[in-house]
Amino acid sequence: STMPSLHPLHAPQNHASSVPVNAPALAVDHLTRIYRSGGHRLTVVNQVSFTIAPGETCAIVGPSGSGKTTLLGLCAGLDLPDHGSVHIAGQDLAALDEDGRASLRRRLVGFVFQNFQLLPTLTALENVLVPLELLGQSGAADRASALLASVGLAERASHYPAQLSGGEQQRVALARAFIHQPRILFADEPTGNLDTATGGPIEDMLFQLNQEHGTALVLVTHDPALARRAGRVLTMRAGTLSESPNPAP
Ligand code: ADP
Ligand code: MG
Repeated sequence: STMPSLHPLHAPQNHASSVPVNAPALAVDHLTRIYRSGGHRLTVVNQVSFTIAPGETCAIVGPSGSGKTTLLGLCAGLDLPDHGSVHIAGQDLAALDEDGRASLRRRLVGFVFQNFQLLPTLTALENVLVPLELLGQSGAADRASALLASVGLAERASHYPAQLSGGEQQRVALARAFIHQPRILFADEPTGNLDTATGGPIEDMLFQLNQEHGTALVLVTHDPALARRAGRVLTMRAGTLSESPNPAP
């Protein structure tokens, strides 16, 4: 099954000059995150390094508690490392203050969580618009409607999250994540709360949106079949990342 193509979206304008051409979508160097509680130190992400090229797709697998969600939060600038660095599209997150990181996230980063995280008091359309309203762009409602149509929810634009199924809510979250044409999308077990029949189409949409927008995709999953769809597979074990050759399909 194919989705209708998205109507043409405007190129991002306000940051073109500050983003190096051909920079990796993501560059992570010796990233370390240590949680401290009481007298304990827990090194949850330990000297992790990897690079994601523009448009590349990558799955991160590994046991529960191995640090995958913590790693994604660091990569997206939602959390700060104890050591090491993260560059998104050539920009060093450590060189930005909290407002600067928030601004970079709004311009360059999309995030899809396991539990959708839609705002309950906003309609589907308004949820998709949230990142753009922060950017103050014009034509936003048309773009949001086009994206909702592209994930098969044209008829549900005025519904509230409570009126949508889990799969429909996650499709709204996908549309929201792509509304500002991010350079990179982080998805943390995006189909983990959905049954296979509901999750399958969501996975198809993730890869189709990746191809249509050239957005790099970093996807945490427990599902080996989903991981095999990505160009690369990275494995987290107790805070350490290793890359395994992706077996031929
Ligand atoms: P995964 O996503 O692979 O299941 P997480 O990154 O969620 O792993 O967690 C890795 C480890 O870090 C776990 O042992 C978890 O309990 C611990 N952890 C996660 N968040 C915090 C926090 N805010 N404070 C202390 N420990 C945490
Ligand atoms: Mg997790």
